[in-house]
Amino acid sequence: MFNFLLQKKLSKFEKLVNKTKKFEPILNNYSYKQLKEQTTILQKKYNKDQNLNELLPETFATIKEAIKRATGLKLFDVQILGSIILHYGKIAEMKTGEGKTLVAIVTSYLNAFSKKGVHIITVNDYLAKRDYELAYKIFNYLNITVGLVKPSQIYSERKKQYLCDITYITNSELGFDYLRDNMAVDLDMIVQRKFNFAIIDEVDSILIDEARTPLIISGPSDSITDKYIKSTEITQKLEKYIDYDIDEKIKSVTLTEQGVLHCEKLLKINNLYNINNSWIQYLLNALKARELFLKDQHYIIKNNEIIIVDEFTGRIMEGRRWSDGLHQAIESKEKIKIQQDNKTLASITYQNLFLLYSKLSGITGTAKTEETELDKIYKLEVIEVPTNKPCKRKDLSDLVYKTEYNKWQAIANECFDMYQIGRPTLIGTTNVQKSELLANILNELQIPYNLLNAKPENIARESEIITQAGRKFAITISTNMAGRGTDIILGGNAETMSKIVLINYIQIKLGFRTKNQLNKIEENITLILKNLKIEEIKNIIEENNLETIIEERIANKNINEIIYNTYKQILEEYKLIFNQEKKEILDLGGLYVIGTERHESRRIDNQLRGRSGRQGDQGSSQFFLSLEDNLLRIFGGDKISILMQQLHLDENTPIESIMLSKSLNSAQKKVESYFFDVRKQLFDYDEVINNQRQAIYTERKRILESNFTRDCIIEYGESTIDEILFLYDKEINISNRYNLIAQIYKLLNLTEKFNTKQIIQMKDRQIKLFLYEQLRITYDLRESYLEQLRPGLVRQLEKYYLLQQIDKGWQEHLEKMSLLRESIGWRSYGQQDPLVEYKNEAFNLFINMVTYIRQTVIYLTMRSRLIINMKE
Ligand code: ADP
Ligand code: MG
Repeated sequence: MFNFLLQKKLSKFEKLVNKTKKFEPILNNYSYKQLKEQTTILQKKYNKDQNLNELLPETFATIKEAIKRATGLKLFDVQILGSIILHYGKIAEMKTGEGKTLVAIVTSYLNAFSKKGVHIITVNDYLAKRDYELAYKIFNYLNITVGLVKPSQIYSERKKQYLCDITYITNSELGFDYLRDNMAVDLDMIVQRKFNFAIIDEVDSILIDEARTPLIISGPSDSITDKYIKSTEITQKLEKYIDYDIDEKIKSVTLTEQGVLHCEKLLKINNLYNINNSWIQYLLNALKARELFLKDQHYIIKNNEIIIVDEFTGRIMEGRRWSDGLHQAIESKEKIKIQQDNKTLASITYQNLFLLYSKLSGITGTAKTEETELDKIYKLEVIEVPTNKPCKRKDLSDLVYKTEYNKWQAIANECFDMYQIGRPTLIGTTNVQKSELLANILNELQIPYNLLNAKPENIARESEIITQAGRKFAITISTNMAGRGTDIILGGNAETMSKIVLINYIQIKLGFRTKNQLNKIEENITLILKNLKIEEIKNIIEENNLETIIEERIANKNINEIIYNTYKQILEEYKLIFNQEKKEILDLGGLYVIGTERHESRRIDNQLRGRSGRQGDQGSSQFFLSLEDNLLRIFGGDKISILMQQLHLDENTPIESIMLSKSLNSAQKKVESYFFDVRKQLFDYDEVINNQRQAIYTERKRILESNFTRDCIIEYGESTIDEILFLYDKEINISNRYNLIAQIYKLLNLTEKFNTKQIIQMKDRQIKLFLYEQLRITYDLRESYLEQLRPGLVRQLEKYYLLQQIDKGWQEHLEKMSLLRESIGWRSYGQQDPLVEYKNEAFNLFINMVTYIRQTVIYLTMRSRLIINMKE
């Protein structure tokens, strides 16, 4: 049934591919000017009936023609198929090297006609820039504006980029801009438009791997750092399994009863859980820091700061901090300066950020294994697109060694053999530490290699290393998916390589760099470089504009210009060398990928394998595992250890057993579903805050956009009156009733003397109308008084108070919500679902916050004279 439906859908899509082709011969003959006019023509058609689907074939054919003219590449049918899938708001699974960058560009062109903006989202700044440059070149032929958001831009520049038809941006820039926009105190500071359509490149990395950590904007708060240090000291005196237990699976630590007593004794207090002086989070964090968060695996230390390493990509995540005091606990463990506790000012998860788009789509090489999650949370269907040429890669079955030691020896030997014959090999490792372990063994064996991991000095060379990873004799060690988005071309990428060599050479000649980064440079290339007259370019180049200038010159293609001329010669030479190398490498079997551990999901394993065998090349992949690997140790269960004892294994012979493979697979699925649960839970809990966030952000925007905030103030005042009168109605005690009225008078700053008896004798409705009237009269007086002081000031003040109090209220609310979340975890509810409990309490907190905001705004505006005096 399912297949049948899918078949039907695909055949509909295939028809569209054929329809697209019909336009090709016509467009082929168009002049430069005619092609450019296509955008205006198509745009007009769209404006008439607002139907993008109708326009798809002609539009796709048009951009296909533009791509051909701008890059010389002719799109494959499978690429058009991918673009169609994206247009229909789905995920297209297309393998590495299939040309996904262009696929996204095609879809973005069609969707640009709505003029509401298209975002193309990438995993890092390097890719955003690279893809933007390509798109820019192509859209030059079509009168479409393309923008790029970069971390260094100020808000006015950002705004410009967001206003383009198509905008390239990383997921984190997008998220932080969203949060900042919703903290803006001036309409001009808002940079983003309403989210319309997004194409997410490497979509699994963003919607799945990154979805575990929310984006947080935080500001300093005033808490004490002593507790962290003290906790670190105390936990050093605790004993594993006696004072505390660890659950590696869910990364949690618990104190045993004995441990609680022990801590209380050491701290000389009688209750760790005392709400007013709680120690428990500090101690648990200190234990976590000690047992579960390891240097060079989960974080690195750079410039005396703890920097998180993304477990999946091996990338460092600058500026991100673990929340709820964990980061400080690690700082304390490492004896570096403990940064102030940060208060969350705004936060959002990627799940909810991307759900803000009217239409969402994505591409990646690996999504099929996570299709349930993508469907459940994002309502995104995954459709596999066949490769352009059949995949010839051989995925060999796993080799399992008894110990880790044997495993690494075997891997090193394999590298040695490959290096001897010159076959390029890529070894994927799960963390920095292990990548260095292998690097050390290779050092001993005197095998040259390139190392790509989260260490800052390596990141700078990332794309360059990946560019060379397909060359003969290249041995590349890489953490997980470093260099994601850059594909490995057998023999090497001549364009990138030529650019790097040229930049490098000029840098050295001008004294900006002392050592050559590259392993070796061919003699012919050196000869070409020697002919480059450095004096001629010396004056125009400075250290900080060097790369830009060289890139510009290369893009301009003026053969009489010295830099381009040299580049062109190097390029020709490299093309020859690389073509020859490619042939030799194919004879050797293509790129060889070695996995050193099964990852936390099959998807990540597939990512690694997918590095090899691009565009129908030869290639193979092999995983080397050991019985001591984390996956088997933690999730393998008893079967494995029993097996271990039963088999009298020779240390150096790998095992291949069906039972073992089965255990491995089931362990991996267990981990996958565990992490899915974690993300699902984060999503469910965040959904509660998300609804509140949308409500607050909408209110905030209404105020920000309003030119007449007086209405808001009066509205807040009336609601405040209503709320208190609601209590008043239910109250029977006269003196309490009196107090409630007094409270209203105080909040509204009503100075007029009033007669309690009179009020209390009024009917409910009368009281209300009377107080409403008092509110208006008092506010009119205040307003005219302020107008006298300075015309227009009152509106500014109103806006200021409204925004200030909403932000303050929301931030305090976030803090309470996070405490609530924690305490829900601790409490035991018997049969009750903690999520339901959380929802109820969250609702109450929200109502309290709204009331509090209204009341303080009213209180402050009604007294605004004082503030003015202070300001003046
Ligand atoms: P992916 O993102 O799918 O891994 P990229 O978009 O990075 O792939 O493209 C990989 C390489 O394939 C690039 O060098 C690109 O220029 C090339 N490429 C893309 N489309 C085509 C095509 N239709 N014909 C030839 N080469 C192509
Ligand atoms: Mg890509």
